[in-house]
Amino acid sequence: MNRFVGKLFLRCDIETLTGLHIGGTKDSVEIGGLDNPVIKTIDGKPYIPASSLKGKIRCLLERKDGVQQSGEKGNPCGCGNCEICQLFGAHSDKNKTITRLCFRDAFLNYKKYIDLVKSLNFLDEEEIPLTEEKMENIIDRLKGTAKHPRPMERVPAGATFTTKIILNFYEGDDIERLIRKLWEGLRLLEDDYLGGSGTRGYGEVAFRNLEFSLKTRTDYEGNNQAQPIFEEAFATLQDADLKIDELCTEAEKALLAVGGH
Ligand SMILES: [Zn+2]
Repeated sequence: MNRFVGKLFLRCDIETLTGLHIGGTKDSVEIGGLDNPVIKTIDGKPYIPASSLKGKIRCLLERKDGVQQSGEKGNPCGCGNCEICQLFGAHSDKNKTITRLCFRDAFLNYKKYIDLVKSLNFLDEEEIPLTEEKMENIIDRLKGTAKHPRPMERVPAGATFTTKIILNFYEGDDIERLIRKLWEGLRLLEDDYLGGSGTRGYGEVAFRNLEFSLKTRTDYEGNNQAQPIFEEAFATLQDADLKIDELCTEAEKALLAVGGH
């Protein structure tokens, strides 16, 4: 097995630009609650599960690159060789590869959110709803009226969630290509959507406050401090776009020094 050489960390916020609906289970909803609840943590705050982020970014990259589906129709790639399999794991029993990307759940920036809603609505904290309800329906083609109206719970625009994406590198990995492929996925997500009903305007998101740091194998043996790559956080993905070359160069320099490729 190829030896581990280090990790690139991307810590960032995800801001909702439109209402976000990532479905939760109805079990957790009290009687009289919404039919289509959003997923929440045990203390009732909406969050973005890591699996939603990972799955969506992978899917967008596979579509872009025209990657073959494996086995049953609709399954992710299982070749084990392409960058997408290296990053996200091979969906196959035969072609194993180490999954290099790890996503953390994205948790609501509660304080900031409460302040935002307060400034908009002049509500007291206990009155502030953490989600909104929107009616969705189908237009009757004959009468031109709405039918099957159903309420959808969603996180309103302006919420931010904090997450971390971790990219692991092993000896022999093409560091630059893996970073650039992940990057493509982030760009594609901003121009697509997260969660449900995206074609109807839900789930537009943007990355904010992007911070990059590195830990090499030797850092784990030493003082365990992540080394920041840039002095400041980037406000937007577009700002960070301008530094992608430098990011790749710095990551290669640090990882090559401990046995990267
Ligand atoms: Zn593949």
